[in-house]
Amino acid sequence: MKILLPFMLSMIAVAKEATAQDAECGRERAAMVETIRAYVRSDASVLGQQGLSERVLEAMGQTKRHLFIPERSCSIAYADRPIPIGLGQTISQPFIVAVMTQLAEVAPDGVVLEVGTGSGYQAAILAHLARKVCTIEIIPALAAAAAKTLRELGYDNVSVRLGDGYGGWPECGPFDAIVVTAAPGQPPPPLIEQLKVGGRLVMPVGPAYSTQQLTVVEKIATDKTTTRAVALVRFVPFTRSHN
Ligand code: SAH
Repeated sequence: MKILLPFMLSMIAVAKEATAQDAECGRERAAMVETIRAYVRSDASVLGQQGLSERVLEAMGQTKRHLFIPERSCSIAYADRPIPIGLGQTISQPFIVAVMTQLAEVAPDGVVLEVGTGSGYQAAILAHLARKVCTIEIIPALAAAAAKTLRELGYDNVSVRLGDGYGGWPECGPFDAIVVTAAPGQPPPPLIEQLKVGGRLVMPVGPAYSTQQLTVVEKIATDKTTTRAVALVRFVPFTRSHN
């Protein structure tokens, strides 16, 4: 008893601190969602009158971004900024994640591919909205860390694969939506191939180390697509496995 009591008291103190931190993180996350909502309201040029759906905002409000970044700090995680995740890569600004997710128009029974897993955060957002998410990452350490985070947080509808996402993931598709979070010069044809008719490819298109056009390619028939540019963005380069 003499030994156990101080131990139990310190455990209670740790638990209380964790609960207080959770509550603080929850408040910061809710503020982040309000910031995103305000941006979209003030600038209809990106998403038009339709704006952001409540489903997307809810997914942003439920996903613990601080658990996907190296610092695990809430004040860093819930500022509306991109964050370095190591190995020269960054997790996108939450506003951009919300916009890309909205443009993907994910339905509850949807199957989605993400190319560029990074931290796993965008995959987690998609996992709240879709039936199945497959995500590919080319850097082994990031793929392993993201798979671990997603597993530990219970995202059991997400599969992470290590590899070059240029060729997509045919065994996981066909896809209702594909989200690419690195910038290739042009939309990779295998990704369009693996979209269902009616599906959408959302990606930055343009040169590396420069600004790109956030682009939506919609597959309107087996051999026909329409393309629209939505906003200027700046993403990390899309690398190839033979580079
Ligand atoms: N969606 C991520 C952010 C990713 S940053 C998140 O939510 O955290 C872009 C990622 O794309 C980087 O991790 C980079 O390594 C990866 N990437 C670049 N080229 C790739 C390719 N050809 N195939 C798969 N992943 C690629």
